[in-house]
Amino acid sequence: MKKNVKIKNLTIGNGSIPIQTMLKNRVKETDLTLKKIKKFANMGCDIIRISVPDEDELNGLKIVLKESPIPIVADIHFDYRLAIKSIEAGVHKVRINPGNIGNEDRVKEIIQCLKEYNIPVRIGINGGSLPKHLTSKYKNSIDTMIESAKEEIGYFEKYGYDKIVLSFKSSSVIETIEVNEKASTLFPFPLHIGVTEAGDLIDGTVKNSIGISALLQKNIGDTIRVSLTAPEENEIIVGKKILESLGKREELLEIISCPTCGRTNGNISQIVVSLKEKIAEKNINRRIKIAVMGCVVNGPGEASNATFGVACGNERSIIFENGEKLKTVDNTQILDELMILLEKNIECHDKK
Ligand code: SF4
Repeated sequence: MKKNVKIKNLTIGNGSIPIQTMLKNRVKETDLTLKKIKKFANMGCDIIRISVPDEDELNGLKIVLKESPIPIVADIHFDYRLAIKSIEAGVHKVRINPGNIGNEDRVKEIIQCLKEYNIPVRIGINGGSLPKHLTSKYKNSIDTMIESAKEEIGYFEKYGYDKIVLSFKSSSVIETIEVNEKASTLFPFPLHIGVTEAGDLIDGTVKNSIGISALLQKNIGDTIRVSLTAPEENEIIVGKKILESLGKREELLEIISCPTCGRTNGNISQIVVSLKEKIAEKNINRRIKIAVMGCVVNGPGEASNATFGVACGNERSIIFENGEKLKTVDNTQILDELMILLEKNIECHDKK
């Protein structure tokens, strides 16, 4: 029977698939940290992970915990005492790596503290940092990752604690899929999924989209993190798009745009970027689809299922709504006209 895990006010393992990202700055930069967390929560991020590499970060962590609107996970490597101090500081979950957290005695101390504060742990197995005594014993990294999880879970069973989330991460998409498939048949705990060390925006987006989607389509995976060598916003946007594309999260706003070709008028990609920036300030609460098309020949027809949109002409463009031409506007007015239609078509309020 599969288990659920509560982390502050949300549940991992109930089918809702929370999106996570990890901050790329130090938590002790508290103003920046809180500004980011609030922005990311508004964008649809559900859980924030923060590195706690040394004691210096603990004061910042305490300040951030007081004001964060979403749960915070402390990411701990090597020093089990930092896990204990983060739990005592009030963090909502800790992530430990069996490859570097140390022996059973240290894990036992963490478990006792988790019990006292009644918060969950993520046992985060990483294909690149597996326990040495296991890498010499098992030939392939999938078996080693599974054995590492079994060993660590064994400590938690021995000391009676089961508020566990597991993750099995690899920089290989195929390995990520295979190890998580195997883990889903062996362990009852929720799975945090994603492809790690996946690369820059394009490489990482492709690898994570393939890996995460392949698993979610088989109902494997309970929370996701898209790891990118790019600003955190991108991890959230890509994660959200993956869930929306798979029908795992309601898609309220969809902007469709043509790929452009030799018939294209205007700078379609710039219009889409500017539109997204303007809409990011809005709180969309109804389903809406906006089309940005590069010509008046094919544009309106191909985008007839959009709520409204633009088909660009040489100097003037057609604004259409529900497949019908509304008006022709000067190309400099396109964005303003689309925003007027957005306000008209949905109840949207500027985000506070
Ligand atoms: Fe080209 Fe027009 Fe199609 Fe865009 S909508 S790809 S501009 S033919």
